[in-house]
Amino acid sequence: MGQDWQELRGGILVTAATADRALVNTGLVVGLRRALVIDTGCGPRHGAELLAAVRRVTPLPLVVANTHAHWDHFFGNAVFKNDGATQFWAHAAAARGMAATGEAQRQEVAGVEPEMAAGEGPLAELVPPTCLVGAGPAVLDLGGVSATLFTMGPAHTGGDLMVGVEGVLFAGDVLEEGAEPQFGDADRAGWIRVLRTLSGMGAEYPQMVPGHGKPVTAAFAAHMADSMEAGPGPARPGLEWGQ
Ligand SMILES: [Zn+2]
Repeated sequence: MGQDWQELRGGILVTAATADRALVNTGLVVGLRRALVIDTGCGPRHGAELLAAVRRVTPLPLVVANTHAHWDHFFGNAVFKNDGATQFWAHAAAARGMAATGEAQRQEVAGVEPEMAAGEGPLAELVPPTCLVGAGPAVLDLGGVSATLFTMGPAHTGGDLMVGVEGVLFAGDVLEEGAEPQFGDADRAGWIRVLRTLSGMGAEYPQMVPGHGKPVTAAFAAHMADSMEAGPGPARPGLEWGQ
């Protein structure tokens, strides 16, 4: 099945994967000189479909950003490297997470990406980030449009990367629409704090794209914070590889 784009505004698009690929969202920002792909899917099969979808929109050279170190967000990197991408942006802590847990995460895709699960076949290697974002933001000039990559602190993982561009914020799994938030690598208190901050950023970012589910607004971040404070769920003070 192909990947269909939803245009959020001119040159800023999102496509949602099917349920067997965790419904993960991939973003695309098209500049005049290059285009930015945000999250690359679950492996070479998914990555190839995403690349084909990108190529229906633009022939430009690609830059990649991975919002965090979970398999559905970076296992397709090799496909984009093979297409010529050389810049793979991520939070420094996410890069550590990918190095520490990437091989073990292969088991998550045994059903949908058997080559990736086995680590065999073309484009099944783990491609680590080449450009790291730390405490300060990084601004990517795509030609006529800039994307700002920044961290708001530990939340869904210790290395969540935000990508903001012209009123649209790609928030990765810090925002989760249509499913429960995933706490496996989370800093619960930090996550609530980040959501409260996000809830006040609606003027700058009228549209927010979650890692999974439909685009939302700042009010949704407040709603998530409310339910996270009220609801049960694991509290996890520290992270194995986060910072
Ligand atoms: Zn995640």
